[in-house]
Amino acid sequence: MLRNLPHARSLLFAASMLVAVGASGSPPALERVSFTPSSSRPGTVVRLHFSEKVASFGLDRNEDGRGVRITAVGAEAKASLLCDTPIRPFAECVIGHESAGLTIRLAVSGTVAAADIYRDARVGSDLLVYVESESASVVAALNTPPDEDEARRLSERLSHSVAAQRIDTVIIDAGHGGKDPGTIGVGGIREKDLVLDIAHRVGAYLQDLAGVHVEYTRSDDRFIELRERGVIARRKGGKLFVSIHANWARNSRAAGTETYFLGRLKSEAARGVLERENGVIALEENRGQYGQFDPAQLVRVRMTESANLVQSQDLANRIQLQYRDRVGRGDRKVKEAPFYVLWSAGMPAILTEVGFISNPSEARFLGSEQGKDYIASAIFRAIRDFKVAYEAGLDVAAR
Ligand SMILES: [Zn+2]
Repeated sequence: MLRNLPHARSLLFAASMLVAVGASGSPPALERVSFTPSSSRPGTVVRLHFSEKVASFGLDRNEDGRGVRITAVGAEAKASLLCDTPIRPFAECVIGHESAGLTIRLAVSGTVAAADIYRDARVGSDLLVYVESESASVVAALNTPPDEDEARRLSERLSHSVAAQRIDTVIIDAGHGGKDPGTIGVGGIREKDLVLDIAHRVGAYLQDLAGVHVEYTRSDDRFIELRERGVIARRKGGKLFVSIHANWARNSRAAGTETYFLGRLKSEAARGVLERENGVIALEENRGQYGQFDPAQLVRVRMTESANLVQSQDLANRIQLQYRDRVGRGDRKVKEAPFYVLWSAGMPAILTEVGFISNPSEARFLGSEQGKDYIASAIFRAIRDFKVAYEAGLDVAAR
């Protein structure tokens, strides 16, 4: 079974020289394409109905992230075959032929967040393609204030279903990695290394907490796209998402810790952090898509977000309290901003800036074993206290 690897450009088997002729003596023919929402994941499943088993197949993502191309080596399409009217998130389905064989191009509205191709276990001749899209325009949409009444109503309704889940899996997200070093501080300290180290320490503390399972978006020095981080978090069943970063400022005296939850951009100071941490995602590029965005879907996003935001803000407060009262760090307070990574997580999520590595004294503290350990234990205690308070609420509600 051929599974998609997230960043591989091309996943064709090196079998294109095989003569792909089916049992009947004719090449496998694509007879129909059908689309159904996945029953287990947020995306859509595309079924490619073939007359015979396709010997080799592959999937690549378009360079611009807005679609996928499926290649079925040595296959052809039944004459006059058209794709059924595609359902969300697909905008277009085009069948064509290239030298390798049959191609099916699927364009999505938004960007492709996850894509997989595999053979159907039951109907061996069919191929199944799973595609999940994430429209970055939601981030822009979050900048428009929601209707207060609607937000409260939805939040109340959702608190029941959201609260039905214990915080049994915590996702620790070390910012940056690989070709993205993050910021570089005094003495050459690199954000990506520092936050990975702290992430492992937080994870080590959490492992010992009963009923908590820890997952990392990255546990080594590798590059992961922002949108991929949220996908990983959800795939691993995360209930809480903690993204760890280090701050930087031109002014070497800037100091202190701050913790963000997903929200609207309220200050110019937050804009600098936002632009740095949103990194590779050029938000501006995606703003134009807002017009294509389905308002019903936006309402659903807001429903989830409004319930998650209360939790996120609570955790952010607890982290800042720990930094200030237990570790004696400067308190730049809890802030809100539309971080892509927090939105993509789709669960209570915070992004914490553990200090300024552009400040000589903070860089020294953060670079020390003790400093890293103090920061990690502060984050750990905040998560632990949050979990205890949150689950006590669940138990009361369940009585
Ligand atoms: Zn960062």
